Amino acid sequence: GSSFDVARIRADFPILHQEVRGRPLVYLDSAATTQKPQAVIDALVRYYTHDNANVHRGVHALSERATQAYEGARERVRRFINARETKEIIFVRGCTEAVNLVAQTYGRSKVGPGDEVLITAMEHHSDIVPWQMLCQQVGATLKVVPVDERGDLRMEQLDALLTERTRILAVTHVSNALGTVNPVREIVKRAHARGVPVLVDGAQALAHFRVDVQELDCDFYALSGHKMFGPTGIGVLYGKASVLESMPPWQGGGDMILTVTMEKTVYNRLPYRLEAGTPDISGAVGLAAAMDYIDAVGLDAISAHDRELLEYGSRALESVPGLRLLGRGRERSGVLSFIMEDVHAHDVGTILDREGVAIRAGHHCAQPLLSCFGVAATVRASLAMYNTREDIDALVRGLHKVREVFA
Ligand code: PMP
Repeated sequence: GSSFDVARIRADFPILHQEVRGRPLVYLDSAATTQKPQAVIDALVRYYTHDNANVHRGVHALSERATQAYEGARERVRRFINARETKEIIFVRGCTEAVNLVAQTYGRSKVGPGDEVLITAMEHHSDIVPWQMLCQQVGATLKVVPVDERGDLRMEQLDALLTERTRILAVTHVSNALGTVNPVREIVKRAHARGVPVLVDGAQALAHFRVDVQELDCDFYALSGHKMFGPTGIGVLYGKASVLESMPPWQGGGDMILTVTMEKTVYNRLPYRLEAGTPDISGAVGLAAAMDYIDAVGLDAISAHDRELLEYGSRALESVPGLRLLGRGRERSGVLSFIMEDVHAHDVGTILDREGVAIRAGHHCAQPLLSCFGVAATVRASLAMYNTREDIDALVRGLHKVREVFA
């Protein structure tokens, strides 16, 4: 887009301006974690320099300011994903913790022996293992929506997999290993038609396109701050108020209570009931700053830039001899996943690293998905708003070096 100036964006990310192994850094690993703009770094420094105190407790000025900053961040998140109410925003450590929370509260109270939990073959381990653990605990069965050879969900099988025993469906918005964007709105519609609530794993979505949880009509939405230009250690579980109200608490401790006696505890109201202990206050402040940054750049402009770069990257990689791109689904975002004939992904990664190009090689915490494609590992170049065509060109030059080494 014309309003999108990638050079100006890059100037906001200090970490990008360095050499590694004597080469300018080319960072193509944003699906693992994104880099942070100066505005986020400044927000953390400002918070610790001026406002740090514990929240919801003190009567003093700093505690009031810290509480305002933390609750202000909650409102910022609400607005960013267009949740109806701030009490629907639960701060957690990341997507992993969000899924575990839902599995251990909603899941433990609603899923019983013989019931079914439905996930997809495209899930990250963090949206598989917590459900397996739940199924083992309660005697339920894990069912899986398969993927086709292009990396799309086999939607024609969805209705048959939604049975009268299905208690919850969990699906990733974007596959971190292939970049497939799933038709979440349609999936929610079909699940709701059977009375099945849906959790969406949004780890790979929010840095790339606008998400409106009311429009998706999902019951839960999980996000990780560090994958959207915010700090590590902070994430969000969004839940519809009516669903969250029906859930028992998870972790016990301070802040999630109203009164405690040795005989009985009265739990606090939402969202505090699901946030035991001192939260990651600075993380929430940093996440709010990241959302401000994304909105200042504009998600429409970011999406257009991402799309353009993904197309450029797909074409450029197809020109490399012996390279096969995985995941050519209907809609993709942010990820170029590939294998090279006769070269192990880790060797590709090592040679690229010597060229200053940072990618990820491995199973990307999606072993079941890669096994659908008959591979144990891929090379994954993943994109963010600060990437350029020059980054892709450097990757392709590096891949030609790989070919030379293994010729
Ligand atoms: N889901 C997806 C699709 C992911 O890509 C990731 C991180 N790679 C996660 C979940 C887990 O996120 P986190 O480690 O931040 O909890």
